[in-house]
Amino acid sequence: MKWMPEAEEAIKKVPFFVRKRVRARVEKEANETGKPAVSLADVKATQARYLTRMSSEIKGYQIETCFGPSGCPNRAIISDELINQIEADVKKEDLLGFLKQSVQGNLKFHHEFRITLADCPNACSQPQIKDIGIIGACAPVVTDEPCSLCEACVEACKEDAILIDPEKEVPVIDDSLCLKCGKCIPVCPTGTLMEGQKGYRVQLGGKLGRHPQLAKELPGIYDENRVMEIVKDCLRFYKDNSKQGERFGQILTPADFEAFAARYKT
Ligand code: SF4
Ligand code: SF4
Ligand code: SF4
Repeated sequence: MKWMPEAEEAIKKVPFFVRKRVRARVEKEANETGKPAVSLADVKATQARYLTRMSSEIKGYQIETCFGPSGCPNRAIISDELINQIEADVKKEDLLGFLKQSVQGNLKFHHEFRITLADCPNACSQPQIKDIGIIGACAPVVTDEPCSLCEACVEACKEDAILIDPEKEVPVIDDSLCLKCGKCIPVCPTGTLMEGQKGYRVQLGGKLGRHPQLAKELPGIYDENRVMEIVKDCLRFYKDNSKQGERFGQILTPADFEAFAARYKT
């Protein structure tokens, strides 16, 4: 749906943790009233209604994706079904009921459990500050096809993770620098670099607030089934250990994280 420039400006000022929901609500309400475009007045009216009914808007979790499914060319993996599967599983956990029992006083948005999926390491949906951040990954693999030494892969890699060995005439990838964005693969004209492991990196325990912390990454690239297992495992841990609405990152000690990392070592 078309948005007037003033409406776009206004929605950017809505607090980031509810912006996506308010935006969706504005569009829905404008659509229902047959508006051809979203105006500033539409944003203000919906925002006012949303904020006055905030407690009834809380559903216990927030699940979102980056804009990859809208056709972003940077996607390292096509993940359209994964987020729906995760949401279906999370719904079964009744996190709203859990939070109502454990939190004293009114529930707030910051109590909700947050999961996000970004389809590439550019991480537009901010996986590093979510309870569970999932990042699309496509790792290159060096094949036996002769390298033409064109260095297109070196130029494509923003991480300086590829060097060409001048004696052996092969690309060498530094795994500690490689973010698995997959950008070096399609530029290789000879097939010396091809798609290797494809899946998802998973980060746990990120949060903002008074004591912000970045999520820590599990040691692997996982397929969709494994990601679903990790999500379920994290929710189990969260419900067992969060007693008064503490965020996942607050209750996940370094030892707990190491236990997760050992369980999901590949
Ligand atoms: S995270 Fe990557 S795929 Fe997703 S919108 Fe950003 S650049 Fe595109
Ligand atoms: S996958 Fe991305 S980060 Fe890794 S070597 Fe290729 S371009 Fe560099
Ligand atoms: S893009 Fe392919 S052919 Fe060119 S230097 Fe890299 S590996 Fe070799």
